[in-house]
Amino acid sequence: MVANKIALVTGGGNGIGRALCRLLARNGARVVAADRVSTSAQETVNSLSNPRSHLALELDVSDKSSVETGIKCIIETFKAPPSLVANVAGITRDFPILQMDERAFTDVIDVNLKGTFLVTQAAVKALVEHGGKDGAIVNVSSISSKGNYGQANYSASKAGVEAFTRTAAIELAKLGVRVNCVMPGFTRTAMVETVPEKVKQQILMITPLKRFGQPEEVAEVIAFLLSDKSSFMTGASVKVTGGM
Ligand code: ADP
Repeated sequence: MVANKIALVTGGGNGIGRALCRLLARNGARVVAADRVSTSAQETVNSLSNPRSHLALELDVSDKSSVETGIKCIIETFKAPPSLVANVAGITRDFPILQMDERAFTDVIDVNLKGTFLVTQAAVKALVEHGGKDGAIVNVSSISSKGNYGQANYSASKAGVEAFTRTAAIELAKLGVRVNCVMPGFTRTAMVETVPEKVKQQILMITPLKRFGQPEEVAEVIAFLLSDKSSFMTGASVKVTGGM
């Protein structure tokens, strides 16, 4: 269902993005692992069974020219733009509001929300220019979008991603591009490893499945939303939270 398609995964150097690159590659996609950290992107590609069929890209989603250069590089490599895009790149800079400086706020909004916009816009423009149709985009929101202590910046960015997803779904439907988002709960990635042990125990208490998710479990849902199997879904937000 994703076989032979070109799939761009931002944040592909770690966690959910890396798990998604592996899953898409196993299903026959040509994968572009894009990450701000080029060595991480390269490690992801090196871990795929046929690294030469895939591409590692150094790309900063919050920087318009970096995103545009990245899309050009994909077109040069594969002779076509990506028709599948997963916006997985994300950061946290947690502080209570009264201690949060302006930079911590804008950095998180720039990567998580503006980055999702920039990559979506550049990829869809390229798809249209190449006469492509039938694309799919999956954005990563978060269960934290409902509000979470110490995460005013992150929660706002992820609520924004959800709203952006619904609007993009409405606007891009006429181009044959579906746009959905997943809302992961607590997933075992580097991002969650920074959470204090006491908070982790509290999270487990309110998670019906009584464990954290694995990046692979979130990747499965993203891959489903990227594939034709979800052909009648657009504008949806799918929770992957262990019931939280
Ligand atoms: P998760 O998998 O839960 O989203 P991780 O922290 O494990 O969280 O992975 C996030 C990935 O996003 C990292 O590889 C990180 O380098 C990448 N990333 C962070 N900021 C940017 C950015 N501005 N552009 C591209 N990739 C980024």
